[in-house]
Amino acid sequence: MVVIVGAGLSGLLLAYRLKNANIPFQVLEARKRIGGRIHTSIATQNTPVEMGATWFHQEHRHFLNLLSELDIPFYEQFMEGTAFFQAHAGVPAESFVMPDQTPSYRIAGGTVQLINKLESRLDESDILLDQSVREIHFSTDEIRVEARGSFNAQKVILALPPKLWQETILFSPGLPDSVMQLASETQTWMEESIKVGIIYDSPFWRQNHQSGTLFSNVGPMTELYDHCNREVSAYALCGFLHSQYRSLLPEERKNRVIQQLVSSFGKEALEFLEYKELDWSTEVHTSGSLSRPLFPHQNNGNEIYQHALFDDRLFFAGTEASPHHGGYMEGAVYNSMQVFAKILRTAKR
Ligand SMILES: Cc1cc2nc3c(=O)[nH]c(=O)nc-3n(C[C@H](O)[C@H](O)[C@H](O)COP(=O)(O)OP(=O)(O)OC[C@H]3O[C@@H](n4cnc5c(N)ncnc54)[C@H](O)[C@@H]3O)c2cc1C
Repeated sequence: MVVIVGAGLSGLLLAYRLKNANIPFQVLEARKRIGGRIHTSIATQNTPVEMGATWFHQEHRHFLNLLSELDIPFYEQFMEGTAFFQAHAGVPAESFVMPDQTPSYRIAGGTVQLINKLESRLDESDILLDQSVREIHFSTDEIRVEARGSFNAQKVILALPPKLWQETILFSPGLPDSVMQLASETQTWMEESIKVGIIYDSPFWRQNHQSGTLFSNVGPMTELYDHCNREVSAYALCGFLHSQYRSLLPEERKNRVIQQLVSSFGKEALEFLEYKELDWSTEVHTSGSLSRPLFPHQNNGNEIYQHALFDDRLFFAGTEASPHHGGYMEGAVYNSMQVFAKILRTAKR
């Protein structure tokens, strides 16, 4: 039995691969939902709003191969028309034409489609929700995993951010100090970000020959993009807030966002149908302590994560452990492939 800790993209993809290989497994997920940092919220008028992972690129080839394998359609991010840039406080955002750039893509219906597809290939009992793993005990012949329930395993895969397992899971015997130290200094991609989605009943920016793109050095929004669905039948803008606005009350933050939209896109921006916001630093099953600032992607894919511990019984999956595009969905897919290959090799031995 292989216990997979975490039902994000990494854990679910590993589960799917193990299922196809007829290797018994159990996924334990702390939240009451699957997907982890992939979290598409379905807003009013059936508008998919990405509160987490959204974009991917041509160079994300393992991710693209997975979409092709699972027959999941995707489309290009809309960038046509003028964009806005605000350089300083007190000066209005200026419109400009973005130079041509390599396109980014989004999954039709939202990134959650990938999670739903993987889930559909599993049995209901393969994933247990609301099972936050607290302790993992290794003895000579078995591993005991303590969550709300108690589970026995021959192998355990950690498919969650290293900083999180370092802070929240007790290992006995303890992991080497070098591994724990590294985990505490491994940045969890986007754990501090605040994402917003604003839903409208028409794509007025497109009608005004604007792309819906906004960059600001001032905030509250630092980046904003068109977020209409593939069919262009549901209309939204979606982007990121500057972390300093975390200190405002939610209502005031929302007002500031709308003011900023009005100052760039005009009064039509006032007529929104719904406003959505998610501060990932408050998500205890993603964000560890933010007290020690880490560089973006710091220690992602470190060599130490490439080696299993306890005689090939404890494996490090999850995007932050990936030596290729660590932090991104591409990293999650790549590292799951690597860990799956190691599990197969060690299972044969
Ligand atoms: C706001 C935001 C925007 C992003 N945008 C992009 C983007 O545009 N493109 C891109 O490629 N990537 C993006 N990412 C990153 C992307 O989401 C991740 O690379 C990917 O989803 C990581 O998957 P994972 O399975 O490795 O980790 P996670 O998704 O973090 O999954 C870990 C799982 O473990 C669970 N868990 C945690 N603790 C425990 C425990 N003790 N016991 C059991 N389960 C536990 C969690 O609940 C979670 O379900 C973004 C992330 C965020 C937050």
